[in-house]
Amino acid sequence: MTAAKKFPAALLKLVFPDDCRVCGKPLSEVSRIPVCSPCLATPKPFIAEHFCISCGTPYLSDSPLLPDGRCRICRDGLAGFDAAFAYGEYDGPLRKLIHLFKYGRVKPLAKPLARLMAQAVPREHRFDLIVPMPLHWTRRWDRGFNQAELLAKALAKRLDAPVSQAIRRKRRTAPQAGLTNSERRANVSGAFALSTGISVKDRHVLLVDDVMTTGATAAACAALLKRAGAKRVSVLALARVDRRKSSVMSSPSDVSSTGSSVNA
Ligand SMILES: [Zn+2]
Ligand SMILES: [Zn+2]
Repeated sequence: MTAAKKFPAALLKLVFPDDCRVCGKPLSEVSRIPVCSPCLATPKPFIAEHFCISCGTPYLSDSPLLPDGRCRICRDGLAGFDAAFAYGEYDGPLRKLIHLFKYGRVKPLAKPLARLMAQAVPREHRFDLIVPMPLHWTRRWDRGFNQAELLAKALAKRLDAPVSQAIRRKRRTAPQAGLTNSERRANVSGAFALSTGISVKDRHVLLVDDVMTTGATAAACAALLKRAGAKRVSVLALARVDRRKSSVMSSPSDVSSTGSSVNA
């Protein structure tokens, strides 16, 4: 490899494939996605014994759940949305893949990640519009893209519904990590607005995001869509933070590598 070091990095990449950015094993072929196929196939669907039938939040036992199977947030109407689906837990290989996609800017990952997301949607559901969770323009400018928008576009074909940028972010919100549920709701309240010229009246809207934590961001967007006449609002995330494990919420790697951590 000593002679090869003299080549420009881009040329070197064409000749020698990268190592897998998830497991570190050498890749056997050159691809736009620097992840080996076993790692792309590894993320497992979320399985929780006790969860709210409406927002899907997992619980350690069924004691926080009401007799109808809903959690108190949903009973009190604070969830804002009608249903929430997520493929897997925001941990392990799935978390690495999301970081690679979002912060490593490996945009071609949108397609395989959207394939996982589509698996989380029950077959009987049909949507009229797919709405990506908006990023504030300054953050979008920094990153160069909105990860939720790329996932939404990759989902459009699979779910047979058009993508609409129906919501925009009016102001930048502080990172949600470390805030309580009510602080999260306060943090995002008034942060969103409907885009002009788009009607959601009588539509079943699917809000799409990469990661969902408490659902406070989704709740704020769902409430906005409902006020504009949306018939039903469902939420689809690639991963959801399992708040039963507090370590995931306060992991320093989230803060250092992202600056913004988990937003939803
Ligand atoms: Zn791998
Ligand atoms: Zn719930």
